[in-house]
This record gives sequence, C-alpha cells and structure tokens, in this order.
Amino acid sequence: MMPGNLYIVATPIGNLEDMTFRAVRVLKEADLIAAEDTRHSRKLLSHYSITTQLTSYYDHNQAIKGERILTALREGRNVALVSDAGTPCISDPGYQLVRDAIAEGIRVVPVPGPNAAIAALSVSGLPTSSFTFAGFPPVKEGKRRTFLASLATAIGTVILYEAPHRVVDTLSDIDTVMGNRQVVVMRELTKIYEESLSGTAISAREQMLAGRERGEVVILISPAAEDGQASNRPDPDEQLKAALDKGHTVKEATALVAAATGLPRRELYARALLLRDQR
Ligand code: SAM
Repeated sequence: MMPGNLYIVATPIGNLEDMTFRAVRVLKEADLIAAEDTRHSRKLLSHYSITTQLTSYYDHNQAIKGERILTALREGRNVALVSDAGTPCISDPGYQLVRDAIAEGIRVVPVPGPNAAIAALSVSGLPTSSFTFAGFPPVKEGKRRTFLASLATAIGTVILYEAPHRVVDTLSDIDTVMGNRQVVVMRELTKIYEESLSGTAISAREQMLAGRERGEVVILISPAAEDGQASNRPDPDEQLKAALDKGHTVKEATALVAAATGLPRRELYARALLLRDQR
C-alpha cells in the first residue's frame, strides 16, 4: 500500500486571516490533523469549518504519538501537522516526526505560511540578504550569555525568539555581551497592538520596561560591524540627544533623525519625548 503524505502546515501567528487557501484545503482533505494543542487549534479549525479528526502531538508525547502518526501514514492516511502558531518544526514540535517520516520514505510536503522570524525580519529595517535564526536563547543567565557571545560574529542579522517575561533580561545580556548594536524588538506581530521598538539593546529594554513588557516578541540584532552597515550607524537615541542638545524641538529632532535613519517617526517622537524629559 502507498503510504500517505505528511503535510507540515503553517497557521497564523495572531491574525486569523493569515491562513492560506491551500492550508484550509489540505486540513479539510487530510485524514488526521496532529496538533500541538488540540484545544487551541480547534478554534482555528472551527473558524474555517474544518471538521477533520484531531489528535495531539507535543513535546512530551512525541515518542508515543509519533509512532501512531507514522502507523496512520503507513496505512495510507494523509496526516497534517500544525502547531499553536506559525510554521511547525520552527521552535515548535515536528522535527523528529519529519525525520522519522523521511527515513521511511514517506513524502513530507510543506504548506508554507506565517513565521514570526521572517515576518519580523521583513519589516525590521535591518539587513535581510543574510541572517542567522538562533531560536530561543537558554533560560539560565550564564548559558544565555555564552550563547549570545557565540552569535556576536554570526553572519547577517541575528534573529531570536524570546518569552515575554525574559525579554528585558535578554536585552541586558545582548548589551553586555554583543556590544553596541542596533536592536529591533517586534512585538505582537499581526495583532492589534503590533509595534516595533528600535535603538540600542538598552534603549529597547527601557522601552519594554516603560509598560510594554507583555506580548510575544522577536528580537533582531544588527550584524557585526564588518558584515554590514547597520551597526556602524550611530544609535538613534544618540542622534536624538545630539539634536535636542543643539536646541531643536522634539518635533524637529524627530524629523532629522527619521530622515537620517529611516526609522518610524512615531517611535522616534516617543523616544525624543522621553529623552527630553530625562534631561
Ligand atoms: N513556529 C512559530 C513560528 O513559525 O514563528 C514559532 C513558535 S515559538 C514556540 C513562539 C515564539 O515565536 C514566541 O515566543 C515569539 O518569540 C515568536 N512569536 C510567535 N508569534 C509572534 C507574534 N505574533 N509576534 C511576535 N513574536 C511572535
């Protein structure tokens, strides 16, 4: 008997409309959907009137569930894997299942769509021609610093995922270990409160502490100086301070730095107000 196909199906990272037509069709036509969290995925599936049978597949049941999913595939059933958000296998369960399926000659088919790292990079204003996606930094400070130090000479823009409650500590460590880099924190991508914070790691940290500590984030770090232009640019905060020192108003300083850096005016204006009040 011909084995079924294993479809790796990307789903939205916050905005239900970011579902592709193909993802909906594949999920409707599959014999079984394996989901990281069945309760979570049920909301998405019912929104698109997908009634395919659901089973769970997450980190702690991978061994048992993986075997059952492989059995279904061997029996000729088509299985679609989804995670809670974005592309399965990218800092989400699925890697082992894909490896096992490939080893058995089962066809693994990507159904591409949302991914937080690529969405963040595309709007960050940091170099996009090469990048290093490093996933989640380790939780313990010592290991995290070693990890960040190893990324100091990585090729291109460095992209990190981070849990909301660890962002502030990780930004401190980026400052300590990686030096003066331009950092962009993209928060709540595709959601109502989507925003981007930009500056040095320390200024991004201050902005996070100023009451915006919640929500999912992607951290992007400009390449090491020899790899690109971004980290050679003066820090936008320094540029704003210099303009304010010269006697420019907040509005004028914002306009000057926006023209020089291409950074969004709204953020620069908020930064300029903060810097003026700190003086
Ligand atoms: N598989 C997912 C993907 O393709 O992007 C990533 C899953 S990983 C468990 C979750 C992390 O992705 C979050 O901690 C955050 O760093 C990032 N992330 C996911 N959704 C996001 C969003 N809407 N805005 C910003 N970051 C997001």
